[in-house]
Order: sequence, then structure tokens, then C-alpha cells
Amino acid sequence: MKTTVPINRSSFIWVLPLVVSFLGFGGCQPSVEVQSPLSADGVTFESLGFESDSFELSSTEESQLVVFETLFVEKDGYRIPGDPEPERLRAFFKDLRESYFRKAEGIDYSIVGKQYHTLTHAIDVMIATHALLRSGGGVYLSKGEQAALLIAALGHDSLHTGVSNAFLVSTNHPYLAETGTESLQEKRSVEYVLKLLDKHEILLVKEGMKEDLREEILEARNLIEESILWTDITRHKEQMEKVSALVPGLVGSLHKARQEAGSQVEENGSVAGDLDLASDAYHTIDKEKRVLFASFLLHVADISNPGRDWNTCERWAGLVMNEFFSQGDLEKKLDLPVSMNCDREKVLVPFAQIGFGKFVIRDLYALLSKTLHSGGSYLLNNFENNQRRWQEIEKEVKASGKPYSIKFDPPSKEGGWLGETTVAQ
Ligand SMILES: [Zn+2]
Repeated sequence: MKTTVPINRSSFIWVLPLVVSFLGFGGCQPSVEVQSPLSADGVTFESLGFESDSFELSSTEESQLVVFETLFVEKDGYRIPGDPEPERLRAFFKDLRESYFRKAEGIDYSIVGKQYHTLTHAIDVMIATHALLRSGGGVYLSKGEQAALLIAALGHDSLHTGVSNAFLVSTNHPYLAETGTESLQEKRSVEYVLKLLDKHEILLVKEGMKEDLREEILEARNLIEESILWTDITRHKEQMEKVSALVPGLVGSLHKARQEAGSQVEENGSVAGDLDLASDAYHTIDKEKRVLFASFLLHVADISNPGRDWNTCERWAGLVMNEFFSQGDLEKKLDLPVSMNCDREKVLVPFAQIGFGKFVIRDLYALLSKTLHSGGSYLLNNFENNQRRWQEIEKEVKASGKPYSIKFDPPSKEGGWLGETTVAQ
């Protein structure tokens, strides 16, 4: 996600996975089965989920490749239309991975730390998107669309600069000439991902291709473009309105598919069990609505941090606040007004977390729960717990006068951590 935050920026939060896998959402409370620590070789298509440890899984290039191959190369992995060979996919992954280590021209990286928008964040968002699909979200999309959405998740922050779109616009960065001021970094990510797909002849329309495959490939490229552009937080409100209007139709299609299959599932929104329905609900949902819903899932995965367990939530909170504060340090050095939530001297981290939860996250997860019962209720339950934790900390800070000391636990170097910087507060 690119941080052009029109919303009150004192409301930002983050979360990430720990070592647990998610199985079989039935009943109202999702069940969780703890597995042995998830080193790369403990990874399976089913074990990857909301509680996988993305820091661990992204700690080396080898472990990253295992995650990628588990999702795209292994036999029960996602099928990309046109079935590109594993070598092409690996080469594509290698190039896409490299784009997260780039430093943009004209940005002072002795100050800007890019602590949050790293390859580890991208791999986490890919795993979270997978978790949303496997917990029932996949019932609303075709197989090709699901595979395209995973590629979008992995590439959604490629070439991220470590500063916000607003900073690039206010400093009149050369990128503006290429993209204009709207969704600047999202557009660059889209262009880069599509270019890499062409380079590796993945999702590429070829001469003499069958019409239905040609169409499926063009739709997959369109979904990648649309879903990445919708990760621009300045479009959050618009997306919420559009998806809210979609809900009755989506759930109607789900219930119709259940009826046809004689399914006894009672939850209103989808659960993992719906993925095995004989007739797929997505057939009765038109393409534009499927693309919009897929984009919604990616947006949720991108800001799913507040919906994970506390430790990872706090860990990502520390990284994103450090990224904001380092931008603020640069703005001070350049004599620019310091952007909202970027002044390490003024911003109180717990207050910022609570605000983001109130203004953005709660409604987002509640809307998700209407279409996706299991994934939505899991994120919402954790979120409410985390909000209570931040409120307790805020009370302690007020009572003791002792400021909250922010966590700083960056990814490994191979996981995308660019280098040393100061720890906030
Ligand atoms: Zn992101």
C-alpha cells in the first residue's frame, strides 16, 4: 500500500503472521491448529495462512522461493492461465523480488529507511491473500482470477520508494512526469509487473491462441492492474461504497450455489467448505464485479495487520511508524511541512493505531465478514483484541507519563531491510 493518506493519518496500524496454520473454518469461531515452527521446508499450500511467520519465511531468498513455488509451482498450487513453465515463473519471481531492493533517484536513503514497504511485506500480503481465498473468498472468483490476484499481491508494492505518494508530489519528484499525481507508485508497480510478465512470457497473448484462453489471459492482466491500483489508500472510501453495493449480489450467488449443491452451510458469508461446492458461485457474478471483489480482498490483505495476533501487529506497527518518522526527518531536513503522522517528536504511536482502527479497519473487516464469514470474523476478533491492547497502553502512558517505546524488529537483509536507521521514541 502507498501511503497517500487523506484520512486522519493519526490512524495507522499493522499486523503480521506468526507460526500457526489456519484449517477448516466451520462454526462461528475459526479453529486454529498450531504446527511446528514454519521453516521453509515445513511449508505446504494448506499450511500457509493468516498465521504463517512471514519474517521467517522471507528471511532468505531460498525460503522466499519455497513459498512462491508452493503457491505457483507445486501440484496443488494456483494455475496461471497459459500454464507457464516453472523456470519462467522462477525467473519472474527473481526479477520481481529484486524490484523491492531498488532505491529511487533523488531520495536520501541515509535518512529514509523503507522499514515497512519491503519484500517481506509483499510476501506477507501474498500469503494473506491466499488465506482469504482459502478461507472462502475463492468461491467468488475463477481459478485464473485467483492466480492473477496472488501475482498482484506479490507485485503490489514493487519499486516502492519508502516515502508516500504525497511526498513525491510535494517534492515534484521526476516520477510525476511518467505517472501524473494520481496513484503514482501504484501505477509504477502495475507497469513494472506487466512488463516483467511480458519479459518472461507469462500471461502473454500469443498468435494463434484459442479465443477462451486469450480472453482469460487478458482478464487476468486486467485484474492485476485494477487490484494493484485499488491498493491506493486514497481510494479506500470509494472502494468501501462500491463493495458495499456488491454484497447482496455476491451472497445471493453463494446461497444459490449452496442450494444447487444441497449444502447445509448456514453462515451468511462464505466459509472454507464452500470451496468444494459442486457449482461455483462465480459463474453467476459478472466479470467487473469479480474484479472489484478481488481488488477488495487484496486491499484487506494489504492492511490485514490489525487483524492478526498482538505480537505481529505491534511488530509491524513499529516498522511502519519508523518508515513514517524517517520520512518526517527528511521533510524537516528539506524544510518541508512534516506530513501527518510523520513527526517522531509529536506522534503518539498507540493513539495513531487506535485512530486507524476506528476510521478505517473496523468497517473494512465488518464489510469483509458479510461476504467472507471465516476470514472476516477471524480478522475482526483479533482486531478488537488489539484495539483494547493499544487502549490499555495509551492509559498506561497517560498514567505513568512514560512514553510507549516502539518495537523495532526489521526483516532480514534478504527479506528487504535496506539498512540501519534510528529507532523511534
Ligand atoms: Zn502494501
